[in-house]
Amino acid sequence: MNIEEFYPLFLQCTDVVIDSRKVKDGSLFFAFSGASYNAAESADEAIGKGALAVIIEDGRYANPEKNIFCVSSTLEFLQELAVFHRDQLDIPFIGLTGSNGKTTTKELISIVLSAKFNVQYTSGNLNNHIGVPMTILSVRKNHEIAVVEMGANHQKEIEFLCRISKPNIGYITNFGKAHLEGFGGYEGVIKGKSELYDYLKSNRQKILVNQNDKVQEEKTENYPEKITFGTPQSDYYFKPVHKEHFVGLHYQRTDIFSNLTGNYNYDNISAAVTLGLHFGLNISEIKKAIENYFPSNMRSQIQKKGNKTLVLDTYNANPSSMQVSLENFKIFEGTKTIIIGDMLELGEESLKEHQNILDFAESCGFDEIITVGSNFKLVNQSENAFENTLELIERLNADPVESENVLLKASRGIALEKIIDYI
Ligand code: ATP
Ligand code: MG
Repeated sequence: MNIEEFYPLFLQCTDVVIDSRKVKDGSLFFAFSGASYNAAESADEAIGKGALAVIIEDGRYANPEKNIFCVSSTLEFLQELAVFHRDQLDIPFIGLTGSNGKTTTKELISIVLSAKFNVQYTSGNLNNHIGVPMTILSVRKNHEIAVVEMGANHQKEIEFLCRISKPNIGYITNFGKAHLEGFGGYEGVIKGKSELYDYLKSNRQKILVNQNDKVQEEKTENYPEKITFGTPQSDYYFKPVHKEHFVGLHYQRTDIFSNLTGNYNYDNISAAVTLGLHFGLNISEIKKAIENYFPSNMRSQIQKKGNKTLVLDTYNANPSSMQVSLENFKIFEGTKTIIIGDMLELGEESLKEHQNILDFAESCGFDEIITVGSNFKLVNQSENAFENTLELIERLNADPVESENVLLKASRGIALEKIIDYI
């Protein structure tokens, strides 16, 4: 099946899905097979549910008259179609990567730019070799700007995703200790993430730089096509402001308060405000957009429960985001309990990093430190080290948390949100 021949049919499709349960009228369905099932078997059913076309890998189920097409690789066809489609779109694409803060920054940038433009952006966290092409394919003629989150846990992944998304402006939120295993240590993280800069430089596209971040500054030195923020010499200069637990920024005569906790979100907000100004929005439009944005995604979220304040940051964790999260929580007023879970995918650094975080937590003066997961258990000798959330729930039923403030943070694999009801 040739991409060019297929393209007119793609343009008639109303959405792209990879889950047969989500097929509806007008869908383009990419049937990805798993180890134990052949997705091509669901092709007919998808057409019955209204799919306009189905892409499969098993020739026995092909039926071009019904728009069921067989290709050698569903994945490659999805990616190649995305590249072809991207080439037809003459609008700015903003590409984001980084160790922490991609999704938050993506949401903030998109919400700000949406005040003036029709913006299409990565849905949820669909930031990998399947999610990025799906995001590109969701961008249509009526869109004016696209914002694409790109995730990576090994070298060459960002390079590959850039070849699909072809960003015109790129931003690396930060270089942190995440996915150390796959990247080969912190230097490996810098190299891997910088593939975005390499792409932008060799294609003469713009780099958004937080000049307050030494690595970003160094890596983009002497490159002329920059949009900068972070220092008084930058194109845009802001100052942090705080209201209760929430962070915001001051620009010229305007204070913007977000509904996000954590000083690290200051950088994320700064990036969004910078791009808003760059694209010609005025500061009051930007303020309104940011102040109306409420996170509901377990990232930097504050939830009141009775007389307790919960900080829900259970979406993910790694040593860098754990550190900044603890630093932020440290300054909360009142009694404090932290419930922290394992940071996964750290490879041989794992034991050391868990020990470091525990040491740091112990130096913060929290009233109670609870850990969850087998990695923390190796370093935490106290009775507050639990193997999993089930064990912790038993303890919470018998002996509830008393502190006024409770921080919850862990890697996705721990699913720490399961314990919220027991606090
Ligand atoms: P993922 O790799 O899961 O896609 P992400 O890069 O999209 O993660 P977010 O989901 O936005 O990141 O945020 C995850 C967590 O990282 C937040 O809850 C917060 O603890 C931390 N974080 C967010 N922004 C920053 C930042 N700029 N610097 C350091 N840590 C941050
Ligand atoms: Mg993300």
